[in-house]
Amino acid sequence: MVAAARVQTKPTAFNRHERHASCVPPPAQPKNCGLAIWSLALGILSLTCFYILTAIPAVLCGHVAMSRIKRSGGALCGNGLAIAGLVTGYIGIALSLVVLPILLAIAIPNFVKARNTAMMNACINNLRQIDGAKQQWALENKKEATDTPTANEVRVYLRNEQFPICPQGGTYQINPVSKDPTCSIPDHRLPTP
Ligand SMILES: [Zn+2]
Repeated sequence: MVAAARVQTKPTAFNRHERHASCVPPPAQPKNCGLAIWSLALGILSLTCFYILTAIPAVLCGHVAMSRIKRSGGALCGNGLAIAGLVTGYIGIALSLVVLPILLAIAIPNFVKARNTAMMNACINNLRQIDGAKQQWALENKKEATDTPTANEVRVYLRNEQFPICPQGGTYQINPVSKDPTCSIPDHRLPTP
């Protein structure tokens, strides 16, 4: 074990010495341009999330980094990083321009449809309540199948005594006892039994 440790220390000591020796006339060690790293990081982020918000800064950082590296006269490196950042940034912008409208084109009609379905269901629920109240009115007042109550007469049998309102602005027709109440919007109707 002792021997192994000795063997290990030798090369590191040598390396340190060698590195030290190469630094004796301090050659301007090129540093990676920070903006180039930023550019690549933002560019990769824009690719993974199709996010134009990171793609544009990636492209800007990439351009600024490249001009700084060029002007630094060898003090700064990372040109490759900056180019990679630019490429990923531009691809990110292209993807956002192509993919976002497609996503919106899919999402908006679905959203509208879901909203309409929700309003239709709420309206059908209202019609069910109106019908229930109407049947109760007919039972308690011994009405015929052809009799039609007024909204005020039905209201008494409804929750909170409030006549429901169609969420999409349709108007309700109570209809005779034997018929279902209806909404003026065609899709809003009680399912036929
Ligand atoms: Zn309705």
